[in-house]
This record gives sequence, structure tokens and C-alpha cells, in this order.
Amino acid sequence: MSAPPAAVHAKLGRMDAIHALAARLRRARHILVLTGAGISAESGIATFRDTQDGLWARFRPEDLATPEAFRRDPALVWRWYAWRREQVAAAQPNAAHRALVELAQRRPVTLVTQNVDDLHQRAGSTDAICLHGSIMRSICSVTRLEIGADWLAAQTGEPPRSPHHADGLARPGVVWFGENLPADALDRANAAARDCDAVLAIGTSALVYPAAGLPALAQRHGAWFAEINPQPTPLTPTADLVVAQAAGLALPAALAAWEDA
Ligand code: NAD
Repeated sequence: MSAPPAAVHAKLGRMDAIHALAARLRRARHILVLTGAGISAESGIATFRDTQDGLWARFRPEDLATPEAFRRDPALVWRWYAWRREQVAAAQPNAAHRALVELAQRRPVTLVTQNVDDLHQRAGSTDAICLHGSIMRSICSVTRLEIGADWLAAQTGEPPRSPHHADGLARPGVVWFGENLPADALDRANAAARDCDAVLAIGTSALVYPAAGLPALAQRHGAWFAEINPQPTPLTPTADLVVAQAAGLALPAALAAWEDA
């Protein structure tokens, strides 16, 4: 047997965490996967809690991702999201995004993401539930109706005007702090949490609710819970298994260990 990975198994001592992860996923009936910004970190997209570089170093992302920030300075918020959209467009899905596509080919998976990038979709997870919207879409600040790319391309304002309301501006199609999540997405995520028998939290600091509450909901309904994150989070003490590794290493390793698990 090869040397055990650096991962720790919180409750089974020295047991190989990757092997334990593969073994439990292999016999799962329905797996709920909750992802956060950490799964896209290996694609080069900054997480919220990373230090921001250059132009944006003086802003806290949390201060730009609110309705108040948009009311105060819509041009600043629009430009910040335009910069992030460029980062996302230039990035590629990584091994962790791809491994989740493969996992869904082996077992029934409901993928719930807090990410507003489109890397899960570009990797092939076309039915991901996006709790926090999408940075690639724009919506009307008043009606929340989607605004088409053709309209946006023909406008000069920063942000462009909305075609849907005289007082409306185009804004990113994401859920800001203090806003409600899309009800349908949240309902489907909660339903999956109640139904699944295994839940994986990958690359999330588990500080933003209601998303961070999904593993606990699943556990109350009897699910086993594993966390994949190099850093501890508030959920770590509640996990049945902690894989303290980058998702791009841990997930492909678990798939590779599948047959032996
Ligand atoms: P977060 O920034 O709060 O936490 C990221 C977590 O990922 C941390 O716990 C970190 O230890 C972990 N991490 C870093 N590298 C990792 C890796 N290689 N593998 C596994 N884990 C890794 O992000 P969050 O929990 O998603 O939370 C908050 C909000 O940030 C969400 O609402 C989301 O919409 C938004 N956000 C999204 C993106 C994106 O779409 N890519 C980027 C930044 C922020």
C-alpha cells in the first residue's frame, strides 16, 4: 500500500482519508455536493477571502457585493464585476470540476454551487443548482428581468440602462449579501439535502447561509458528511470525514481509488 496522503480523517484516526471517501461515495445512493469559491481557486479565480490584487486592493469584495454598494456607486460595482467576468472567461475548469462530472456518471449527484462562475457548466455539469446566480448574466436592477447581450453591447453607460424599466440599470445576475436566494434553487437544494445519504462540502468557508446550512440539514436526515478543504471551517468539527487537501488533488484521487475502496 502506498503512503497515506496528508489528509486527516477526523474520526477514524490514521485511516486513509481518500480511501475512506471513495469507499463511502461508492456505496452512496444519492450524493449532495456543495461547492464554494475554493473549487475554482485552482482555475486561478480568487476566492472572496483571498487578498485582492492591484486595482481592487483597496476594496473588500464584501463591500462591493451588496445592493447598498450598487446604489452608492453603480459604476464602481459594474466595473468590478466586469473585471471578475473577464477573469472567469479567461479561466478553465480544473481537475476538481471535471471529477464531479465523472462522479455524477458513477452515482446520482445533485450539485449545488455558491459559485457565480460558469466553470462547473463548462466542465460538463449542466444541471448544477446555482444558489447565488451567475456573473455571466445581467439583470434589470428594478424588475430583475434578464438583459440580453445584444442590448448590453449596444449601450455605452457604466452600467448600461435597462431595457425593462425607465429607472432600471443593468446589474450582475448574482445574489448579493442581504438579498434572497432564488426560491426555486433553494427549494431544490433543500430537497436534495433531505433526500441524500452522503453530502460533500468542497471549497467553502461555510460562513454564508443558507448554503452553509445544507450539510447540517442533510445530517439531520441521516446523511454522512465529508468536507474537502485545506483549511478548517465552522463545519469541520461536524464532519464524519475531513480531507484537508486541495479539491483538484482529492477528488481525482478518490475516483482513482474507487475500484479498490
Ligand atoms: P470563500 O472565499 O469564503 O471560501 C473559500 C474556501 O475555499 C476557503 O475555506 C478555503 O480554505 C477553501 N479553498 C481554497 N483553495 C481550495 C482548494 N484548492 N480546494 C478546496 N478548498 C479550497 O468562498 P465561499 O465559501 O464560496 O463563499 C462565499 C461567497 O463567495 C459565495 O457567495 C460565492 O458566491 C462568492 N464567490 C464566488 C466565486 C466564484 O464564483 N468562483 C469567487 C469568489 C467569491
